[in-house]
Amino acid sequence: MKGKAVIIGAGIGGLATAVRLAVKGYDTHLYDMNPEPGGKIGELLLNGCRFDTGPSLFTLPSLVDELFSLAGENPRDHFSYITLQSSCRYFYDDGSLLNAWTDRERFAAEAESVTGEPRENVIAFLDECAELYDLAANIFIFSPFYQLDNFRKPESLNVARNFRKLNAFSTMHEVIKRHFNGNRLIQLFDRYATYNGSSPYRAPGTLNVIAHLEHNLGAYFPEKGMHDIVSAVSGLARRCGVTVHYGEPVLSVLKENGRVTGIETTNGIIPAKVVVSDVDVIPFYRNLMKEERQARRQERQERSSSALIFYWVMNRRFEELDLHNIFFSSDYPGEFKALGKGEVSHDPTVYLFASSRVVESDAPAGKDNWFVMINVPYDSGQDWAKVVSQARADIIAKVSRRLCLQVAESIEAERVLDPPLIGKLTASHRGALYGSSSNSRFSAFRRHPNVKSRYQNLWFVGGSVHPGGGIPLCLASAKIACDMIPPADR
Ligand SMILES: Cc1cc2nc3c(=O)[nH]c(=O)nc-3n(C[C@H](O)[C@H](O)[C@H](O)COP(=O)(O)OP(=O)(O)OC[C@H]3O[C@@H](n4cnc5c(N)ncnc54)[C@H](O)[C@@H]3O)c2cc1C
Repeated sequence: MKGKAVIIGAGIGGLATAVRLAVKGYDTHLYDMNPEPGGKIGELLLNGCRFDTGPSLFTLPSLVDELFSLAGENPRDHFSYITLQSSCRYFYDDGSLLNAWTDRERFAAEAESVTGEPRENVIAFLDECAELYDLAANIFIFSPFYQLDNFRKPESLNVARNFRKLNAFSTMHEVIKRHFNGNRLIQLFDRYATYNGSSPYRAPGTLNVIAHLEHNLGAYFPEKGMHDIVSAVSGLARRCGVTVHYGEPVLSVLKENGRVTGIETTNGIIPAKVVVSDVDVIPFYRNLMKEERQARRQERQERSSSALIFYWVMNRRFEELDLHNIFFSSDYPGEFKALGKGEVSHDPTVYLFASSRVVESDAPAGKDNWFVMINVPYDSGQDWAKVVSQARADIIAKVSRRLCLQVAESIEAERVLDPPLIGKLTASHRGALYGSSSNSRFSAFRRHPNVKSRYQNLWFVGGSVHPGGGIPLCLASAKIACDMIPPADR
């Protein structure tokens, strides 16, 4: 009989784990409390428009492709994506506009003509980000770097020899400031700290590696929208023989003599040889393991920021917009200072994503589907109704001013997602998007590992554990964990 593996949570980390364990020969069962898989990668249909409700930026697509190849399938038969020409259109408050072309030379030339920054500065910074990635990625992202064996690898020696290049003792902002003369490019590259819910004024310079993904390795978008990542991988999981149990919450994990023995769901007890959690580690320890001390220990790490999102069906199409657009705050330090105090600035940076620029059917002809997001603090009991109403007014004023038109008049229908709702829908502690923040040089070392010696057959994947949040890192977590899980027949 095949060994049974149980995965709790069908977020992208859980789905990827399900595929990998099924391929490894396990009788694999995937549980989620929600009726649909995907977790934070959600979808909304409203007034004829389709919205991706969570992630919108897609990098390192090879990590998705790898799952299909592993299962002996051609990824292109089931999942397709395009390469973007521009990763983002930046609207500055001074009226200037900059397209972040994914062709480095084209971007550097445009940056020089718009901001006056010598193109060599842009290229030199991107080269440094590439060097950082080559130096650090295998050790810090794609390996269980908390394990002793990892430090014996030749790459680790290389990291030690080139430690200075990691910029671990400067903040992202300090490093970026050293490369550029003008504020506009500093702000543009500072923004990458928000890709894991952190502040550029506190996160270590090592995180400048994030800019490398979009600017050197490329920005992509699934042909059918972000949610197609979920449809494609969940379809693959089923073809690999995974049994899914959606709409079946897991109530507890069963333990005996240093091992987990299975789970209890709303339908009863399920014994298992291997248990993998894709649930945020804090509710996992608190509610499923009933280990309050462990939950509190995790809670000591600062949570990442969260998001406030308006999904607006617009009654006209706005040709000024690209797929990804940023309307920058004119006071970036002030914006992060407010976030640090658990507040929201009155001049927030607004991210506007219109998936219909790639997936035409996402909005009816002559209309637009706007996903309008600002960074907000994690939920610590703020008056969210008040925050939402103020932010809505501030966003409308800002985008209207910058586009020289009245945005409010064009909003035909609206839905809102705030931190408490993110927390409720996906069991993310305090609605944080990426688990713990990276606002300290020690964050990577404190992040929960993919396995703990206390329970030999319990594994952890997803955004709240190593190597962190975001789709590529969750996919990496599944690979790291599954590479350590023994074959099914052992
Ligand atoms: C608004 C927003 C924007 C984002 N933007 C980006 C982006 O542009 N690019 C990017 O790469 N990433 C982005 N992210 C982050 C990315 O979405 C997440 O890091 C990633 O999807 C998390 O996957 P996960 O595997 O940790 O699982 P999650 O998506 O957190 O899912 C966990 C699953 O566990 C289930 N669960 C919890 N408790 C139980 C239980 N007791 N029993 C059964 N099931 C349970 C939940 O229902 C859920 O389905 C964004 C996230 C949000 C919310």
